[in-house]
Amino acid sequence: MRITMGSKKQINVGQVKIGGGAPISVQTMTNTNTEDIKSTIEQIRKAEGLGCDIIRVSCPTKEASLALKEIIKQSKIPVIADIHFNYKRALEAIESGAHCVRINPGNIGEAGMKEIVKSARDHNIPIRIGVNSGSVEKDILNKFGEPNVDALVESAVLNSKKLEDLDFFNFKVSVKSSNVLTMISAYRKLSKKIDYPLHLGVTEAGTLFPGTIKSSIGIGSLLADGIGDTIRASISGSIEDEVKIGRQILKSLGLLNNSVNIISCPTCSRTLINVIEISNELEKICEDLRKNLNISVLGCVVNGPGEAREAEIGVFGFKPKVATVCVRGSEIGIFDESEVIRIVRNLINEF
Ligand code: SF4
Repeated sequence: MRITMGSKKQINVGQVKIGGGAPISVQTMTNTNTEDIKSTIEQIRKAEGLGCDIIRVSCPTKEASLALKEIIKQSKIPVIADIHFNYKRALEAIESGAHCVRINPGNIGEAGMKEIVKSARDHNIPIRIGVNSGSVEKDILNKFGEPNVDALVESAVLNSKKLEDLDFFNFKVSVKSSNVLTMISAYRKLSKKIDYPLHLGVTEAGTLFPGTIKSSIGIGSLLADGIGDTIRASISGSIEDEVKIGRQILKSLGLLNNSVNIISCPTCSRTLINVIEISNELEKICEDLRKNLNISVLGCVVNGPGEAREAEIGVFGFKPKVATVCVRGSEIGIFDESEVIRIVRNLINEF
């Protein structure tokens, strides 16, 4: 089963295409001082290495917007400048070469928006309208009493309309909420009202474990519905983990073509080999691998041979501490469990 993807309209953030049937892209955001170019680039390198497609960098000061110039020069992936409150930071960031600016119209104001749109048009870059439950415009908040689904959607539609009225159509939209159900409903409603690319995320999703689950439910539900074009897991943790979560969400939905999928059983009293250790070790080995492979690791013959038939490489317990290894369902040998990692690593190299 394949998921139909995203918006019909397409925009470009640097060399990355968004919407219009393009692959879903994974984003994260640096948390260094942007003025500290060296540390910021180090973080971007790590994100690039893990398969991040687009990086966002905040520009709270003039120095930060100007530092962007060197950061963009050294980054291999497109850079989005994150702007709040002062439209001048957006203009400086665009001048520095930002591939997109993310703004929250709720805290920029109309005059500032016009300036930003003019500059984005002149430099042929897109804008992301980032509506957030924490900063919906006051009049909309007064109308709905709280930043609920309708308030988020109304703000996003209104701000899209404002850009269209300025004859600007090169944008994507997000309506993030820290409440998973609010976020899901808001994006579902919004996707019926506008056809611009949507950036998905559960904002302020918390620490690693709850943040992973909230992001997976929120982003995953929408992607499964065919809604969404770019994603970010926003966790109180490392940006490496954000990229890993984003990629894992795509992998789980069959939306990532160049990654290894490990299928491993939960183990039980029938388990004959150390499934947990072997699968964790394989996960580590395959983390940076850009290959489209399924590897199954199961503890016994109950489901082992069946899963091995569906995977490129299959491992299952044959007797205590001894495993059968298969390639595309055909047995290639029986090995002591201590040999499994070496055997599988060699097989991976052959694919
Ligand atoms: S595959 Fe075998 S060892 Fe693994 S959980 Fe199922 S029955 Fe238990």
